[in-house]
Amino acid sequence: MATERTLSIIKPDATRRNLTGKINAKFEEKGLRIVAQKRIQLSQAQAGAFYAEHKARPFYNDLVAFMTSGPVVVQVLEGENAIAANREIMGATNPANAAEGTIRKEFAESIEANSVHGSDGPEAAAREVSFFFAGTEIVG
Ligand code: ADP
Ligand code: MG
Repeated sequence: MATERTLSIIKPDATRRNLTGKINAKFEEKGLRIVAQKRIQLSQAQAGAFYAEHKARPFYNDLVAFMTSGPVVVQVLEGENAIAANREIMGATNPANAAEGTIRKEFAESIEANSVHGSDGPEAAAREVSFFFAGTEIVG
């Protein structure tokens, strides 16, 4: 088991419904620590760059519009196998397929407005954490 860090985003559908605390409780209940966190408004350029891997997908423009439609909370979660652990806590991309007790099962509105983002592997985690945070902003 390795201690890891992963990048999490509480998306605009969730900040709009005032769910930041309930979502953070899910992370903490499962042993992940929030070692950095800030509430920001993404620009179109930032959201477009963050999701650049999806540029060719049909939902890309809508996704960028959604991610800039209100504030997000970007955060670094730390813990044992944090990357995979967070993906478990989040649940499947489509809330219709998400397991009971997951964030997306409980809170997501749709496959797009699915309340949270989480890095999908070690390389993505390193890139995404540094996309939003300087090393000095992360306090483990
Ligand atoms: P995940 O967030 O579970 O890693 P992806 O990386 O595949 O999922 O997709 C990134 C985000 O794009 C999703 O969280 C969701 O907000 C949006 N998305 C994915 N698939 C679709 C789709 N078929 N229609 C609309 N939005 C989608
Ligand atoms: Mg993804």
